[in-house]
Amino acid sequence: MLDKRQFYINGKWVNPIEKNDYEVINPSNESTYAVISLGNKEDVNIAVNAAKNAFITWSQVDKKNKIDLLEKLSSIYYSRWDELTETMSNEMGAPLDWSSSPQTSSGYDHIKDFIKRLKEFEFEKKFDDKSNNYITYEPIGVCGLITPWNWPINQITLKVIPALATGCTMILKPSELAPLSGMILAEIIDESGFPNGVFNLINGDGAGVGTDLSNHPDIDMISFTGSTRAGKLISKNAADTIKRVCLELGGKGGNIIFSDSHKDAVREGVRNIMSNSGQSCDAPTRMLVEKSIYKRAIEEAADEANKIKVDIASKKGNHIGPVISKTQYDKIIDLINSGINEGATLVAGGPEKPNGLEKGYFVKPTIFTDVTNNMRIAKEEIFGPVLSVIPFEDEDEAISIVNDTSYGLGNYVQTQDKEKAKRVARKFRSGGVYINGNSAEPGTPFGGYRQSGNGREGGDWGLEEYLEIKTICGWE
Ligand code: NAD
Repeated sequence: MLDKRQFYINGKWVNPIEKNDYEVINPSNESTYAVISLGNKEDVNIAVNAAKNAFITWSQVDKKNKIDLLEKLSSIYYSRWDELTETMSNEMGAPLDWSSSPQTSSGYDHIKDFIKRLKEFEFEKKFDDKSNNYITYEPIGVCGLITPWNWPINQITLKVIPALATGCTMILKPSELAPLSGMILAEIIDESGFPNGVFNLINGDGAGVGTDLSNHPDIDMISFTGSTRAGKLISKNAADTIKRVCLELGGKGGNIIFSDSHKDAVREGVRNIMSNSGQSCDAPTRMLVEKSIYKRAIEEAADEANKIKVDIASKKGNHIGPVISKTQYDKIIDLINSGINEGATLVAGGPEKPNGLEKGYFVKPTIFTDVTNNMRIAKEEIFGPVLSVIPFEDEDEAISIVNDTSYGLGNYVQTQDKEKAKRVARKFRSGGVYINGNSAEPGTPFGGYRQSGNGREGGDWGLEEYLEIKTICGWE
């Protein structure tokens, strides 16, 4: 069992003000993987003070120095790849191969891409050629960064790296369920030589450190990735201090499969939702299938789900691992039972544990068909390996079912008719659209419409989230 009780504040690993142990559980075997501390208000105040002091000088450091430090960070990150991979596998149950790529690799890609964007980003420019007005982009200040467990290092690098690149200082609170990979990143930042107080890490839960960061008067911005439930609470807690609140929240993605889709479209959709054990915000959790191919699609979906192996995360291979926790497991099983009780047809998986995996939080890849969009399994974010298949008659009906949700993160469409794909993509009310299995390139913006959030992470958009904009009149 790892002892990871300390926090990283003002360039040093320090003990919490008060002892408050919390066990990080390995979801593959339910054993304690590490012990961390949950911080309190005083820990937060000390870290915020450190970040506030560091901002005075870090905000003025020139681009070249920041790039040098980020390049160093990048090469140290690369050298600790295997450790990050193994850690995420233990803390959140990603099988080793998946934990290496895309989990560890996504962090590396973000670091590399933000360095590239920083090199090109213009922080100062004339308003226009004839103007004597000047526009400057300046770091917003001290940032509270709150992240989830499902893509731990991906989410952390999407916040920490642009915050560093723009000259902000920060306090990171990783998810208490999977905080160890974030603590490795703190060691990497320390070794890279960033000035004391620029980056700080405090572990804690939402009710404690999460809330203390959200309502802190000396924090200028909260960047949050997690559930819509917590996003609402953070917005309310942040309201009195008028800080900027950037939210990356949940989703309930639709995947429209037209009858002219390529032959693997259904199987691809199944594999996509089941990857990461269904724990991705932009997963295509509702598959909409045109009625003329519905019967074939059901057979293929069930067959593909039955082919997906479930096993412990420490094994190599392309199986899926457990879900993160007992709470999450219970929620998923409750939703699977609700699907059965509400009259959907179960064609693969179900609420029982997979054979031979009684210990650990394992869920069978599960497919429901004959789902209607008012069932709980079609409305609520399940965050487990569960797919709802919904038949549709025509394009308009399919689009209206996909958009009939409070979320709007990622939606998918499969058709060989390019014009139809573009028409549908324009009508989706979501921050991302994936046509025929194409994926987003590094540096494109990621975020949601409606209750999926208001932020855009990645690339120039990701840098701009951490910047204030100033107009200076009479520059010339
Ligand atoms: P969560 O909301 O329970 O927790 C996320 C983080 O917020 C954790 O660090 C937690 O301690 C903290 N937190 C919880 N309540 C808080 C509060 N009241 N105030 C401040 N902080 C609080 O979410 P989770 O279970 O860790 O992650 C899964 C969720 O994250 C899913 O809904 C998923 O869709 C979403 N997610 C979204 C994106 C995206 O980019 N849109 C990416 C990954 C995950």
